[in-house]
Amino acid sequence: MSIQTVNPYTNKVIKSFEEMTDKAVNTLIEKSEETFKEWKETSYIERAKLLHKVAKLMRNKKESLAKIITLEMGKLIAQAEGEILLSADIFDYYATNAPDFLADKHLKPEFGSAFIRFSPIGIILGVEPWNFPFYQVARFAAPNIMVGNTVLVKHASSVPQCAIAIEELFNEAGAPAGLYTNLLISGKRATALVADQRIKGISLTGSEEAGASIAAEAGKNLKKSILELGGSDAFIILDDADIDKTVEWAVVGRINNNGESCVASKRFIAVEAVADEFIKKFKEKLSTLVIGDPMDSKTELGPLSSEAAAVHIADQVKRSVDAGAKVLLGGARSDREGAFMQPTILTDLNPKIPAYYEELFGPVASFYRVKDEEEAIDLANDSSFGLGCSVFTHDIERGQRVADKIDAGMVFINHPTGTKANLPFGGTKGSGYGRELSELGIQEFVNKKLIRVS
Ligand code: NAP
Repeated sequence: MSIQTVNPYTNKVIKSFEEMTDKAVNTLIEKSEETFKEWKETSYIERAKLLHKVAKLMRNKKESLAKIITLEMGKLIAQAEGEILLSADIFDYYATNAPDFLADKHLKPEFGSAFIRFSPIGIILGVEPWNFPFYQVARFAAPNIMVGNTVLVKHASSVPQCAIAIEELFNEAGAPAGLYTNLLISGKRATALVADQRIKGISLTGSEEAGASIAAEAGKNLKKSILELGGSDAFIILDDADIDKTVEWAVVGRINNNGESCVASKRFIAVEAVADEFIKKFKEKLSTLVIGDPMDSKTELGPLSSEAAAVHIADQVKRSVDAGAKVLLGGARSDREGAFMQPTILTDLNPKIPAYYEELFGPVASFYRVKDEEEAIDLANDSSFGLGCSVFTHDIERGQRVADKIDAGMVFINHPTGTKANLPFGGTKGSGYGRELSELGIQEFVNKKLIRVS
């Protein structure tokens, strides 16, 4: 059975789920379409009331929901609780701000009047990953529901209990049946769904492979898609950075979510003048992390989300070492039960080595030493990804000048790439297209209809 809860701390199967049949999926889409006809006529006040209720329920159930996240994908329990609060904030944010974001926009034509009205377009399919199982869904569902669309969510097969729990929150909050629908199906079947004429748009967060599959099908069927894909964020340390503070953030940037974040800091690029000090302190911190049970609040690094994820990253490290990379720290699976990988630092990398160009989804940092700022920018941009980047410097104007030259959707100065409801999130190049969160995120699946009066 492909849809399962497997605890990555023990690698034991906890629960298996039957995939929905095509017939059952069809009935759910029918219901979603029926509900759309009613939901698009509701007021912003009614929609907002529902989302505020969902947010309140989430906060009330923070502990129990966080435990499901940790059980299914190994996130540290405190971070899982943080994710629940962040998700609740996203629901509240759109409930509060959508009416302003979607207000008629008046234009100034040469004569008469004209305005843009933002209208819903129908059923939107969200294909979501396991790494932030509540947050990813919140940033997809909240804006669309405020717009007046209905949503189908095909969540990752490894987090079925999270997927079910989110749908239950909507039910408990009083959402009409068909407004928020969870589809327990495999990834391949999600691509097939894109051709369904009742579905008007697709938002995917996940790998490049899944993104390409969904986008190709969306293109064939003339539908809009947005893609939030992988990243290999550079973390640039300039010569005037406060190294102690920078090292603290470097550790957070790399190991937050046990290293499994699209916007984790993955490539550490230090200019020569501070490279020795940075790498010495970074290595010290990574080597003393408390590794263990993600349910234990003292743990600093938990398992990866699955045995397959741990096998994959260990293989990336091995292939990199075979191709000439040096291991400064770690370099192998941890000698314990569960999906663990040692905190690792790789050096002596070049464009022919897998760690240079592949995304490292786990606690493996690649380290580069460069002559100066210009070389740091060139190296940061030498990636097929363009999601986030961070620059550490004492001089904010300098940081902004560097930010201007970086090919990425988000550049953070003196902080690893992060996320908040009111900040747009998304990338360029192989990291996808479109934006989620903020005002930009609510404009993706709306008809921006021109109404012209002569
Ligand atoms: P994944 O394998 O692509 O899975 C993501 C979702 O896509 C899952 O629901 C999966 O379903 C589905 N899927 C898989 N293959 C598919 C296909 N051929 N057609 C349609 N859907 C398909 O990605 P992952 O390994 O779970 O997630 C990690 C990746 O997501 C990383 O690259 C990470 O950087 C990226 N990510 C990006 C962002 C962002 O905002 N840019 C945020 C988080 C993660 P099944 O589980 O059933 O296979």
